[in-house]
Amino acid sequence: MWVLVAVDGSADLWKALPMPCVHLIDIEPVEPSTMEGCEDCLMIGGQWVHLRLCMQCGHVGCCDDSPNKHATRHFHDVGHGVVQSFEPGERWAFCYFDSDMIDHVPENVNRSYR
Ligand SMILES: [Zn+2]
Ligand SMILES: [Zn+2]
Ligand SMILES: [Zn+2]
Repeated sequence: MWVLVAVDGSADLWKALPMPCVHLIDIEPVEPSTMEGCEDCLMIGGQWVHLRLCMQCGHVGCCDDSPNKHATRHFHDVGHGVVQSFEPGERWAFCYFDSDMIDHVPENVNRSYR
């Protein structure tokens, strides 16, 4: 699927980019709630393996390899279905609605570690 996205926030510069997930269309850039780690694990003293960033509210949760799976739990709790990797250098995301990987997160909504 192809959709139109604004380049650099300018309405004059619309450009067709490959967008594998329709749920990305409504996504606005969010600031991560914490840079420290999984916010739910930090509260309970848990351990995490990898981190996922909710692209709708900035919730930082842990992946399904982690004992508490807070990223998946966040989806079930509040219905935010698109998370991106919060690992340094990783640009992919995952959509729970589609149960599918999104290989390349558009630059204008990407909020991974640089
Ligand atoms: Zn989707
Ligand atoms: Zn966690
Ligand atoms: Zn969220």
